[in-house]
Amino acid sequence: MRYALLLVALLMISNRAQAQEHRAIEFPDIPGYYTLACDLHMHTVFSDGSVWPDIRVQEAHRDELDAIAVTEHLEYLPHRADLPLPDHNRAFEVAKNANHDHPLIIIPGAEITRAMPPGHANAIFLTDANALVADRGETAIDVMDVFEEAKQQGAFTFWNHPAWTSQRADGVAELDEMHRTLIEEGLLHGIEVANQFTYSDEALQIALDHNLAILGTSDVHGLIDWDFEVAKGGHRPVTLVFAEERTAEGIHEGLRTRRTAAWHRNTLIGRESELLPLLHASITVAGAEFRPGTSVLNVTLINHSDARFLLRNTSDFTFHEDADLVEVAPHAQTGFVLKTSGHDAPYLITFEVLNAITAPGTHPEITLTIDTDSSLE
Ligand SMILES: [Zn+2]
Ligand SMILES: [Zn+2]
Repeated sequence: MRYALLLVALLMISNRAQAQEHRAIEFPDIPGYYTLACDLHMHTVFSDGSVWPDIRVQEAHRDELDAIAVTEHLEYLPHRADLPLPDHNRAFEVAKNANHDHPLIIIPGAEITRAMPPGHANAIFLTDANALVADRGETAIDVMDVFEEAKQQGAFTFWNHPAWTSQRADGVAELDEMHRTLIEEGLLHGIEVANQFTYSDEALQIALDHNLAILGTSDVHGLIDWDFEVAKGGHRPVTLVFAEERTAEGIHEGLRTRRTAAWHRNTLIGRESELLPLLHASITVAGAEFRPGTSVLNVTLINHSDARFLLRNTSDFTFHEDADLVEVAPHAQTGFVLKTSGHDAPYLITFEVLNAITAPGTHPEITLTIDTDSSLE
């Protein structure tokens, strides 16, 4: 009885350790680039959020993010009667001070908060957010001038929640004339395909058609742990930026060149040029061994990422235990059993990755090369 209790206690401790360990948002680097997990849209009491900026920083530390952007609304300040806001750069400074010497990169930004069109947009890597907003009592700056000012400051600007039902009642992201002008004039560089709880196929198509960076963000106002049920294995949406260096400038360059993917509800969303190297870095073959006296092969895969991959076999091979689906658990080894009769080694298995999207309704295909540890006797 005592041993049973001890065992239960040990299991509880190891489960807790595992939950902690799995909290970090982790994806492997790809050839030539670091894979940096970034949440580039969030709020605090400095606009309409419910927490002080140090909480955003601590949440990012817990998720082991590489970068966050501080993006308070410029025009929507519901706490203003209680908390006067003389300086729109202040939330960034408070966050930076709260970060101490932690390697988390904190990027200054602001949310341009207008009616549709253009709706809401984040400008990040700003040098002075105050220049984007009129002083109290003055008439608002023309929105095109605001985007122009952001560009002058070298900002990267992206369209927030383009499918938000408060501004698009049908939930369909669609370009207005103003958006086309912003894109043509180099004033809008990215678009959220995933924002907090929503995903938009139409936003993804807009990104592909107009060469915009693909982003996923939390847009958190409350707490990351509650909103995204982290204790139950949930995660905030992030943008994976493939960067030449692990710096703010590396992230800026990755965004400018559209080397991004979004990670939202266990789904990777991006262009093939980024997703294929990421998928191949994430899923590798650990080994393969024939069952003695048979041509049936036990194959072991390793998943180096946070994604729980769902793979659909699209090759000529058939499997011995599963039908055509293999689920690959995050940060774990997973086996499947291949019937090799009639084929020569190495065996090339193609899988459609069902929880990755390169265009609406389109899943990328990866090829795994499987060689055997011991030849068939
Ligand atoms: Zn917004
Ligand atoms: Zn927002």
